Amino acid sequence: MTDFQPETLAIRAGTARSQFGEHSEAMFLTSSFVFESAAQAAARFIGEEPGNIYARFTNPTVTMFEQRLAALEGAEFCVATASGMAAILSCVMGVLQAGDHIVASQSLFGSTVNLFNNVIKKFGVETTYVSATDVAQWQAAVHPNTKLFFLETPSNPLTEISDVRAIAAVAKSCGALLAVDNCFCTPILQRPLELGADIVIHSATKYIDGQGRVLGGAVLGNKKLLEGVYGFLRTTGPTMSAFNAWVFLKGLETLKLRMDAHSANALALATWLEQQPNVERVFYPGLPSHPQHALAMRQQKTGGGIVSFEVKGGKAAAWRVIDNTKMLSITANLGDTRTTITHPATTTHARITPQARAAAGISDGLIRIAVGLEAVEDIQKDLRGLGM
Ligand SMILES: *Cc1c(COP(=O)(O)O)cnc(C)c1O
Repeated sequence: MTDFQPETLAIRAGTARSQFGEHSEAMFLTSSFVFESAAQAAARFIGEEPGNIYARFTNPTVTMFEQRLAALEGAEFCVATASGMAAILSCVMGVLQAGDHIVASQSLFGSTVNLFNNVIKKFGVETTYVSATDVAQWQAAVHPNTKLFFLETPSNPLTEISDVRAIAAVAKSCGALLAVDNCFCTPILQRPLELGADIVIHSATKYIDGQGRVLGGAVLGNKKLLEGVYGFLRTTGPTMSAFNAWVFLKGLETLKLRMDAHSANALALATWLEQQPNVERVFYPGLPSHPQHALAMRQQKTGGGIVSFEVKGGKAAAWRVIDNTKMLSITANLGDTRTTITHPATTTHARITPQARAAAGISDGLIRIAVGLEAVEDIQKDLRGLGM
């Protein structure tokens, strides 16, 4: 189905019907599968005959989700996982060996930094962090043992844009793989493989579910490259459940509609915030004032759904805005129909030193909003604390 538009793929790709002819995808709640004979069991186990054996290896509902997401990302192969973090863990365990080196952008999701610094480091994999936006730093950080580049774009919470094409070219020239965490954009807004990345990572927990209900993740790329990733998952077990895959299949059907609506709301909110006297600065790639607006618009279809802004008056003023909301959810999650508001300096980025926070540009007056699908007028009204 590769010549279809994304909104069509999101609804139609990957569907496999059972003997009952169900119209929408069935949820196969079974931990194992039976064989017609001992010979068939043997053929399945040695891989001579394709087919399901056990749900830690494959499950038909999960396979449908993998094929649909692969079609959307333009990937040959997809491995679904129990969470976004399970996807990142499986990726690094699958493609790296002890003694390998990662170059990663400074502004990664907190648990990813924790995974790199405190988990895989124990197994002899070191990480060097560089600016998300300065391509020369990526080149300069390469060692002879560098095997993986890892980035998120736009970054959280400052919406910095990494030039995927340029960083992919550096990775290629050094014999390293580039993995892009595409959680903020989804394949509706950005397709990193087309920009030269080798691997795409998702936390499906966010926009792919889109309604804040279940956890899941995925690793996508070419089949040969992901053999080790699938092998790691099959052996160690952080596989996606059939129930969650079924929820994500439903989520994907409306992904295009939702990403368009999140983006339109976010642009309207960011434009409005820029006009508020108590707002110092707005960070949103869809605004012409964003320092990388042109790059963002080349690389992504829209600015996405995440808006950050700095209020005048530091932490006290930022907390006042948050505490005066009546509708917005005070939570660090994102990618939900419900708009969420968070104060990065005291939540998601609280555990890094004040100096590191300042260096990263996360000031005490910074607020991040993951714009949901409520009427934008109601979201604006709920930011009444801005007028105080
Ligand atoms: C949430 C998130 C993750 C981790 O995903 P989980 O599903 O929570 O494990 C990874 N990367 C980014 C950018 C995220 O926002």
